[in-house]
Formats: sequence, C-alpha cells, structure tokens
Amino acid sequence: MIHYFLLNKTKVVISVSDVMATLVKNNEELVKQLAQANRQVDQLHQEITYLNELIAEMNRKLFGKSKEVIPDQDGQLSLFNNGNEPATPAQDEPVIEVKNYRRKAKGTKADKLAKFPVEQIEKELLISERDCQHCGVEMTDMGSIPIRSELAFIPAKITRLIYNQHSYVCKHCEQQGITSIKK
Ligand SMILES: [Zn+2]
Repeated sequence: MIHYFLLNKTKVVISVSDVMATLVKNNEELVKQLAQANRQVDQLHQEITYLNELIAEMNRKLFGKSKEVIPDQDGQLSLFNNGNEPATPAQDEPVIEVKNYRRKAKGTKADKLAKFPVEQIEKELLISERDCQHCGVEMTDMGSIPIRSELAFIPAKITRLIYNQHSYVCKHCEQQGITSIKK
C-alpha cells in the first residue's frame, strides 16, 4: 500500500514500510528513555530511604532516643520523646571533666540544630474556641511556648519545625480575681 502526501505542491510518495521503520525506531528510543527514567526513580527512592535513615540516626544522636522513631500523625519524625516532655540529653554527647565531677558538654544539640532553617507553626485556638468557660467572654492570647520540635524531610531541604502552644487568659474574670486560662 502506498500513501500520497502533497508537500510544496509536489506529490511525495511515502511507503508504509518507511513509516513503520520510523515508528519502530522511535519506539526503541522511547523504551531506552523509559528504562533510564526507571533507573533514576530507583536511585531517588534509595536516596529518600537513606535520608530517612539519616534523620532517624540524627534524632537518636541529638535526643538520645533508644526506641525506634515512630512517625507522628503528621508523618514526620518527632524529636521529643512524648509531646510535652523535654528531650533527654544524647547518650553520646561528649563529657567534659570539671575538677571532681563530670558534666555533659553544653550547646552541642543546639549547635547541631542551628544549621537547619526554622519554620514556626502556630497552634492557636479557633476564634470559636476562645470563649471563657466561666463567663463566655472571648479570651486574650497570652503568648506561646514551643511544645514540640522535629526535623521534617521535604525534598531538597530539611526544615526545623517548632510548634508553639498558645495559652489564653480571660481578662474579664481576672478583674474579678478569678484565674481562667485555656490552652
Ligand atoms: Zn471569664
């Protein structure tokens, strides 16, 4: 079978076998490219696995976690043992001899964490949740304290997430000598 195409007003004859040959060649090229892309995906998966293990290892070194690191509900690795509990010093922190007693070297953990960029996550009450449980008046933000810190692996960057828990006081109750605080 012969197909005819008009090109620049000249009748061009293209045989089906020529078209087939071109398609087969293109297909071979695409198969090669796909195999290469698959190899890259495998390599990236290995890198992600390695980085996740690296983060778990850093958590152990920085916070002395003996147990397996369990991702929390956000799917991130928690650097504190238990939400509000402060982390314990790492087991392998250098110990400095000071006269008759030994103490852990200070600032090591902070120094290690300092190299990562920080992102603050404000855990605030919804406006609808800020009403005083005693009198119903909207409470005032007293400020926040960090309750949790974790390293998050975001492709191409590691960010230090700091969660600040806000507390609220009722100024209305305060004026009447009643302490009314919410978190
Ligand atoms: Zn109140």
